[in-house]
Amino acid sequence: MRIVDHLISGHEAAAGYRESDIFDPNTGKVQAKVRLGRQADLDAAMAKALAVQPAWAATNPQRRARVMFRFKELIEANMDSLAALLSSEHGKVIADSKGDIQRGLEVIEFACGIPHALKGEYTQGAGPGIDVYSMRQPLGIVAGITPFNFPAMIPMWMFGVAIACGNAFILKPSERDPSVPVRLAELMLEAGLPEGILQVVHGDKEMVDAILDHPEIKAVSFVGSSDIAHYVYRRGVDAGKRVQAMGGAKNHGIVMPDADLDQVVHDLTGAAFGSAGERCMALPVVVPVGEQTANALREKLLPAIAKLRVGVSTDAEAHYGPVVTAAHKAKIEGYIQMGVDEGAELVVDGRGFMLQGHEDGFFVGPTLFDRVTTQMRTYQEEIFGPVLQIVRAENFEGALNLASEHQYGNGVAIFTRNGHAAREFASRVNVGMVGINVPIPVPVAYHSFGGWKRSAFGDVNQHGMEGIRFYTKVKTVTQRWPDGSPDGGNAFVIPTMG
Ligand code: NAD
Repeated sequence: MRIVDHLISGHEAAAGYRESDIFDPNTGKVQAKVRLGRQADLDAAMAKALAVQPAWAATNPQRRARVMFRFKELIEANMDSLAALLSSEHGKVIADSKGDIQRGLEVIEFACGIPHALKGEYTQGAGPGIDVYSMRQPLGIVAGITPFNFPAMIPMWMFGVAIACGNAFILKPSERDPSVPVRLAELMLEAGLPEGILQVVHGDKEMVDAILDHPEIKAVSFVGSSDIAHYVYRRGVDAGKRVQAMGGAKNHGIVMPDADLDQVVHDLTGAAFGSAGERCMALPVVVPVGEQTANALREKLLPAIAKLRVGVSTDAEAHYGPVVTAAHKAKIEGYIQMGVDEGAELVVDGRGFMLQGHEDGFFVGPTLFDRVTTQMRTYQEEIFGPVLQIVRAENFEGALNLASEHQYGNGVAIFTRNGHAAREFASRVNVGMVGINVPIPVPVAYHSFGGWKRSAFGDVNQHGMEGIRFYTKVKTVTQRWPDGSPDGGNAFVIPTMG
């Protein structure tokens, strides 16, 4: 059986330690195993990283950018095989896997501009003969811990920016689909990155804890579910690290009475069911404003849902594929039962979905609930599956409050033709990323990604200039070059520029 190993320069992990199954979600069969790491594996990666990082930091930023340019070309040349590998472990359809890779690649393109992004500030003549300048310096060794649902994009969000800034990066990807992250690291080496600057260690809690406690890891970027994000944030901060920890989500799509409902249904079916709902920027809650809007929307949604094609990840006609594991399928189906028990109206039931010839695959059919209320656990919690919930709101204020008061605050969208309502909504809603007639408002690479409330712990977002700030520290230099004449000022008073 294929074994997915760590990518640690000059180190072979000892065999015989724990391994974890990697499934083919289309068939339900184990297709490979991933070697889970322990302290000794992290120590080996750290020793290499510590040895090579100073030279990488001293490499001028233009040369570091050239590695990114070459990596971009390699990703493009390998797009088909990467997407096939990604789909085979994750279950998302090939076109969606290409989107996952492409969105990560856009961060690499941003990182190609690192010489510009790292420019500091300069003030000439801040005082008599005094100039002040600031520079951004890398932190040293930093680490990223990533979820299963974007095994290409999220690692690239992190290592693209971190490495371009001059850091060495240790990546701990999800143990459920670890092959693409390893392949990305191999391609970085092929692009000319020195060995030891990007290494991959696999594992579960044991490896995560080793990373969080390691004194030489200066920053940790985490993306995953909220309880673990919170744990990672606290443990990492306690160990004196800079930590950004992105968590779960429950994004609302507000549908105003004046919205173009055909467009909304088109956007909503993609955003709720695409990638089987396994996206932190999916739209699993739709909030029609007014009973008339709700009834009309529901009527239009039903035939659109009936047309959805669920298929294997290699089916080019499929809208979405299986979910990642049997355990996750069981969890989603458990939430559907909970919704029924809580009194929501189950309009379309996706449980028990079978694909002929793939009866053991982890498929869940599209599911629609109506008349979901805020007291229900199925509303309050993240389901992370192909389940769309209609929560009816009386008016604009009610819809705004729903999204604002939810425990999660990752993304939100409003569908309307009214510019004033959209503007008001965007400025008042208590959520980090807002779409106006855009169902999945993932910001482009040169802006930054980050939710609010329990969707993110820590203050600094992913990628864009926020990413540069996260992976660097600012040093400010105040310099004076005296002309030789004595300075008669009082040296015992705090200096001012007055
Ligand atoms: P997860 O929390 O199970 O795993 C994320 C990472 O944490 C993995 O690398 C995993 O190995 C590690 N981990 C798992 N259990 C751990 C433990 N007990 N202690 C320490 N580390 C542990 O998340 P997932 O199921 O892989 O991904 C889906 C979740 O990620 C969803 O909640 C989704 O909303 C969220 N997500 C958030 C964003 C965002 O930017 N906000 C983006 C993508 C996914």
